[in-house]
Amino acid sequence: MLAASPRHLDSPAALRQLADRWHSSGMSIGLVPTMGALHRGHRSLMQRARGECDRVVVSIFVNPAQFRAGEDLERYPRPVTADLCACAEEGVDAVLVPAVEAMYPRGFALTVAVAGALTAGLEEASRPGHFAGVALVVAKLLVCSRADRIYMGQKDAQQCAVVRRLATDLDTGTEVVVCPTVRDPDGLALSSRNAYLTDEQRSQALAIPRGLAAAAAAVAAGERDAGRLRDVVLAELAASSGLAVEYVEVVDPLTFAPVTEVSEGARIQVAGRIGATRLIDTLCPGLDELPAVPARVEAAPAGTWAAGADRSGACSASS
Ligand code: AMP
Repeated sequence: MLAASPRHLDSPAALRQLADRWHSSGMSIGLVPTMGALHRGHRSLMQRARGECDRVVVSIFVNPAQFRAGEDLERYPRPVTADLCACAEEGVDAVLVPAVEAMYPRGFALTVAVAGALTAGLEEASRPGHFAGVALVVAKLLVCSRADRIYMGQKDAQQCAVVRRLATDLDTGTEVVVCPTVRDPDGLALSSRNAYLTDEQRSQALAIPRGLAAAAAAVAAGERDAGRLRDVVLAELAASSGLAVEYVEVVDPLTFAPVTEVSEGARIQVAGRIGATRLIDTLCPGLDELPAVPARVEAAPAGTWAAGADRSGACSASS
């Protein structure tokens, strides 16, 4: 059976009008904000929203405000047709695909900043101004979508915490629903940026889940010292020739400030670059699941990862 096409909206105002109609009919609204190039991770958020909300809205917007000069804004993949197809397959009700001018028209002057420890380190240290860009676009999306719930991925754990702070401080009444990281069977977290990786680079990237798995094993064996856990992760990352480490930190799950001792809920945050591709990952030992990661770096046969929506952006029913 063919899925019904979602409504295609191109402005925040159009979404606001639709959301007002839905709310006045007593319907709850779930928002899944994305930058497109949709993969099974995004689809998992849509599925969760579909199960919990009367109406589901997906936004697809490569937000220039959260990119720094020299980052991959221009080359970020934009497979719009495949993305709309994925939204239809997931039973999404409306997709907002605004042009930059629709989100930030001439004369736009708003800034939004989440201050404090939460935005002092990790992603913000690597990408200064990143979270102001995220907060700006999410504030706009929360306002125009009237979302009762916003669905986000654990992979971007610090971003989830920033958005929770934003929604709380703005009193939007929106519940932030954080969903588990979806991974390929070998442990690599799905990311739209994985499409940039060659097969060899993808093999090198496996050092990240391998490092997290090693740290989780160390915690399970009783290790609680954050410095030693960092070393465990760093040792795995160092074994991957193509990987340049940006940071490895063990942090408090609420403040994202580094900790010295691992207590319940602590997260291990990793960021690195393979060539020009930036990858991040996170794990809460004992809480987050990680599949068995292959022990050695082995080049995948050519084309192994080229099939399906995760890399090509093609519409696929393999969710
Ligand atoms: P992005 O399009 O990369 O901005 O991501 C949009 C949303 O999808 C964010 O809330 C991400 O955390 C989430 N997301 C991205 N990758 C994954 C993944 N592998 N598993 C679950 N959620 C994800």
